[in-house]
Formats: sequence, C-alpha cells, structure tokens
Amino acid sequence: MTDVEVTPGSQAALRRANQQRVVDALRSGGTLTQAELARGTGLSPASVSNIVRNLRAAGTVSVRETSSNGRRARAVTLIRPPGAVVALDFTPDRLTAALGDSQGAVLARESIAYDTGAEPERAVRRAVWLVETLLTRLRVDHATIAAVTASVPGPVDLRTGEIGAVTCMPRWAGFRPAEALSARLRVPVQAENDANLCALAEMRDGAAAGCEHLIYVHISEGVGAGIVVDGRIFRGAGGTAGEIGHIGLDERGQVCRCGNRGCLETLLGSVYLLGMLPQQGEQTPANVAQLVAAAEEGDPGCRRVVAEAGAALGRGLGVLANTFNPELVVLGGELMEAGEALLEPVRRSLELGTLGSALSQMGIVRGGLGDDAALRGALLLAAAAAPET
Ligand SMILES: [Zn+2]
Repeated sequence: MTDVEVTPGSQAALRRANQQRVVDALRSGGTLTQAELARGTGLSPASVSNIVRNLRAAGTVSVRETSSNGRRARAVTLIRPPGAVVALDFTPDRLTAALGDSQGAVLARESIAYDTGAEPERAVRRAVWLVETLLTRLRVDHATIAAVTASVPGPVDLRTGEIGAVTCMPRWAGFRPAEALSARLRVPVQAENDANLCALAEMRDGAAAGCEHLIYVHISEGVGAGIVVDGRIFRGAGGTAGEIGHIGLDERGQVCRCGNRGCLETLLGSVYLLGMLPQQGEQTPANVAQLVAAAEEGDPGCRRVVAEAGAALGRGLGVLANTFNPELVVLGGELMEAGEALLEPVRRSLELGTLGSALSQMGIVRGGLGDDAALRGALLLAAAAAPET
C-alpha cells in the first residue's frame, strides 16, 4: 500500500532487497548462522556480514558467537520485524492488540475480555497496558513501532478524531481515542470506524478481493457499514457515512437510541432481537448465538425473529444498492451463523425494493475473515500510514 520511491536497480533498491532477503530467511528459518544465511539467500558471505551488522545496529537482530561443525560461527536471531505496526481493536466487551509487519500481516496478538464502553479513559489505559504486554512478550522495543491504528465501533470524524454522538458505547461520544492513545504511546495513532476497517481487510485479503465497489455490513449490537467506492472508503463530510443502522424503516416502530423511530437497528440489532422473544426464563436465548441455535432446532419464535431480521436487512440493503450500485455486499457478525434462514428473506426483500439493474450486478457473501476483519484492516491502515524505514 505504500510506494517505495526508489528506482529499481539502483544501489539503494538493491540494498533494501538484499536486506529483505536476510530478514525473510530469519523469519521463516528462526536462528541461523551467517554461513547458513549466505547459503539460504544466495548472497556472498561479505554481503551477509554487512547486512547483519546494519540490522544489529538498528536493533532488528541479535548476534551470538557459537560454533558449527567445530568452527567459530555467528548465530543471528530476528528480534523485531523492521517497520512494525500495532493495531488495537476496541469492541464493547473485548480489547485486542496485535503486532503486524511493515506489510500489515499479523505477527502476534493479545486479547482480554473488557467492558470497553464503561469508561473510555480507563479503556485506553488498559489498551496501552495490553500493547506493552504484547511487546514485552515479543521482546520488541516500543520505540521501534512506526504507527498505530485503533478500531472503534462508532463513527469517527477524521478532522477532529472525535467519536460521533450515536454509538453502541454512548460514553465514547465526543471522546478522541487517537489523541489519548498517542499521548501515552508516543507514536502516531489514528482511530477508524470498525466497519470501514472490515471493508478494507475484506477487500485486500478476504471475500471481496479484487472488488472496487463494495459494502461491508457488520451486524451485532449496532448495525454499521463500510462503503467502498472506486476502491476507497467513502466517509462522507464528517465520518458518518455508513451508519446504516439508522435508516428509518418503520415510522410506528420502536424509538431508537438516535432519537428516531423504527431504525434498521431496532429491527436487526442484537439487543432488540433478543427483546422480541417471549420471556420464558432460562429457556429464553440470552445471546445471538443461542437465538440462532434455537432457530436451527426449529423453535418457531426464534425462526420468526431471524426471518424478520433478514427481511429488514434486505430493505436496508435495497436502499444502499440503489444509491451505491455495489458489485458485492459482504455481511459479517454473529447473526450470519443463521445462514440461509437469514439470507433467503434478505434476497426476497431485496427483490421487492431494489432496481433490477442494481440487483443483477450485486453478489451477497459472508465475510471471509470473521472476527479478525477489523484488526486486520487496522494493521493494513497502520502499515500504509507508517513512514518508510
Ligand atoms: Zn436510529
């Protein structure tokens, strides 16, 4: 995602490529002697010796004197990837930190159950602790991190970094997570909406690989979308684009947390779905996974709730299909476990409310990256933001 501005074939490009060969060999082979590195990369022993000296000076590798076949040798170990980046995923009940390489690939992660919505400043302190725990475990010097991206479940105004007024974590409204994280981590941090990051990751490595016009919809407590137009995230003037949970569908419906009535979220969000079920003590599903399992087992109330959720989703997607004409809609979130019980009513309802020309070009698929999508999107964004090493 970042362009290396070096003329191919120039000395600098050659040095960079040779160094990368040594790093790649150490990454896949673990600790290797300099002689093994020379054999493995095809570089001369003198070149390997030079590269290892530079990598050691940069703190990328450690070198230890040893012996191999009775001769003195130098064993080289990769201690941190060059140009490493960090991603943080804030969800209402979990905090995850991941270390990625300069291309945004996941190298390692740490995750804890956490009530993220309760108090944003405390969640930020906990997230910083989690990053430091991860880096200590990997023996990566915190000063070498090039960039950090935080995924948050709400709209982010890119001009101010502020979380929008309506999110599934109300105490985060008006909070500036990137600013708070950056002050503690002393690294450039950007915050981005989780559905936007999911769209980015699915487009790069998941179900939407190769697509330029796609909409990723995440269905959980809230309902949000990442809209990609011409290969770029469409954010709108203040970062609110994609808040499809607040498309009004039923003027006599329930009042939504946004203050309007009958929003898509009141027909599809997990809290609302569970609230629709008859309350029968322990037999009542307590979460979406239990609701989906009961529907699969043939419970009529649960089947009804899933089918109506699908119909509502289809109506919301119809609005998006007519407006953005995507080639692919990617669906993510726990409710997708319902499979055809959800998708069949989605398709039926789409047919009733979508222009034929928009519908005929549009596929609907399940996300390929599951719960990892936001974290992976955050690593990709951080890698793109990192200065060249
Ligand atoms: Zn609403």
